[in-house]
Amino acid sequence: MSRNGFTTQLIHSDRLLGLEHGAIHAPIHPSVPYGYQDVNDLVDVFQGKKAGHAYARQSTPTMDALGHKICQLEQGVASLVFGTGMAAICATFLTLLKQGDHLICSRFVFGNTSSVMGTLRGYGIEVTLVDATSIEQVKSAKQANTKMVFVETIANPVTQIAALAEIGAFCRQEKLLYAVDNTMTSAYLFQPKTVQASLIISSLSKYFGGHGNALGGSVTDTGLFDWSEYENIFDGYKKGDPKLWGISQIKKKGLRDMGGSLSSEAAHLLSVGSDTLALRMQRQCHNAMSLAKLLDAHPKVAKVYYPGLADHPQHQRASELFRDFGALLSFDLVDGIDCCAFLNELQWVIGATHLGDNRTLALPVAPTIYFEMGLAARQAMGISENMIRCSIGIEDTQDLLDDFTGALDKF
Ligand SMILES: *Cc1c(COP(=O)(O)O)cnc(C)c1O
Repeated sequence: MSRNGFTTQLIHSDRLLGLEHGAIHAPIHPSVPYGYQDVNDLVDVFQGKKAGHAYARQSTPTMDALGHKICQLEQGVASLVFGTGMAAICATFLTLLKQGDHLICSRFVFGNTSSVMGTLRGYGIEVTLVDATSIEQVKSAKQANTKMVFVETIANPVTQIAALAEIGAFCRQEKLLYAVDNTMTSAYLFQPKTVQASLIISSLSKYFGGHGNALGGSVTDTGLFDWSEYENIFDGYKKGDPKLWGISQIKKKGLRDMGGSLSSEAAHLLSVGSDTLALRMQRQCHNAMSLAKLLDAHPKVAKVYYPGLADHPQHQRASELFRDFGALLSFDLVDGIDCCAFLNELQWVIGATHLGDNRTLALPVAPTIYFEMGLAARQAMGISENMIRCSIGIEDTQDLLDDFTGALDKF
């Protein structure tokens, strides 16, 4: 079947799943229990013989509609939604890895994901952190007990881009699970299936929802991994099509048992927010590129980290893989200008964590999101003490440029 344009597909996905009472948006179903006239139907739902819902921790029609939308965008075989991105990430690790297994993880990952690595080690799962921009480092980290490689697309805050395609080919060859966190790029800028990802994880709280009003996460199985050869699938989930064994286990163990479920109200907000994903990201990427150029040429800025700049170490890779260069941009001010004093001079830019919002948000990196890990770990990640991270919004471009120019002029 030919693939329609990104937005056409996205905004019509609810409708094509079947209209309930003619509702163009999938309705919000807040019901926790799901009842049946004939109790045999309930039994069949419990036994997986019939599709249906039983209890909202595991599934609701609203969660399913959002999962279906994400699955279409990522061209997967099945998607699950979670209450947060972290719930999706933890469910994936904790249900697919066991004591004695080995995980290769990018050294440049979201701070809380990095913190999870310590938790996994405590459970007896070995973790090797690598510079995932280099395929050689990933290859040389492989051990006999390696089960999974986990990377992000564009890393935060230094914007390194993993060797996504090369790692995909390596994982395919070595029969390793390849999990890609696509939060930064979203399905609009990049489809991890094209680099042979097995699982695509996303924080829907960021670009997907886009409005900073709901948390959510997702896991999508691309259908490329052969679960029949994966040792950690419980016998009970080796039923039916092997393509669905992995996602079934994540659903039963990770969503049903661990309970990081998404509310229907949040699912609705995320779904409505996602209608404009492409439009928002086009403007955000344009704004980010314009601002990156301005800062790069400014004498009071020491360094700019943005994949769209020709001297970014993975500029070529980003050009080949992504539709655009993203909307996360970091920079170092020259010595002597205090980050917080500078940020306080900005009128439109809000001092806040979070990213992917319609509004431009910025924060000093070292004393906030990367404070807990300490100086040595920051240096190992290439984070300077004077770095400012910006998540670029959809403001009118000139207003944003004027805001930064005006603030820099104060120093
Ligand atoms: C924010 C983020 C997460 C976590 O998502 P939450 O929805 O905040 O739990 C995971 N990965 C990346 C890359 C993120 O930016």
